[in-house]
Amino acid sequence: MKIAVYPGSFDPITNGHLDIIARGAKVFDEVIVVVLVNVDKKGLFKVEERVELIKRVTKEFSNVRVEFFNGLLVDFMRQKKATVILKGLRAVSDFEYEFQMALMNNKLDPEVETVFMMTNAQYSYLSSSAVKQVAKFGGCIRELVPDEIIVDIISRIKGE
Ligand code: ADP
Repeated sequence: MKIAVYPGSFDPITNGHLDIIARGAKVFDEVIVVVLVNVDKKGLFKVEERVELIKRVTKEFSNVRVEFFNGLLVDFMRQKKATVILKGLRAVSDFEYEFQMALMNNKLDPEVETVFMMTNAQYSYLSSSAVKQVAKFGGCIRELVPDEIIVDIISRIKGE
């Protein structure tokens, strides 16, 4: 059974992330979406809330699971007996960072292979931080994030 782990901050999940999850679910037997805890960054949503939002928008996929993890990705991979890290690539600007991460993770555990999927052209400009910026200034975030979580994002931003 080929298990892929799709890591990120997902603060919040966007249609770009969801597209990678949907495509990953077709290629791998199971996709585990993991929200990695970043102690240096205070998010808009708590890690547990991000997990709940991702679960809500991925419930149609029977082979997708969602969890969070506080630690090294390779340790999570070992726990789950997963050897593939799934990543999305948007633009050349993502490349350098992702290249470094892929090499580092492979150095930490040579069994680990990182697989990249090109973004859907439709979502190449999309990031969680861009969504937050747009929402903050009252712009429309429909088509940027799944419909089921629009209200959660807007009310959280207003409440801040
Ligand atoms: P963001 O940059 O949106 O905050 P994350 O850190 O949560 O995203 O990213 C998790 C993974 O999803 C990374 O591999 C990232 O390259 C990928 N990703 C993010 N947005 C997109 C998108 N619009 N299309 C494809 N992949 C994406």
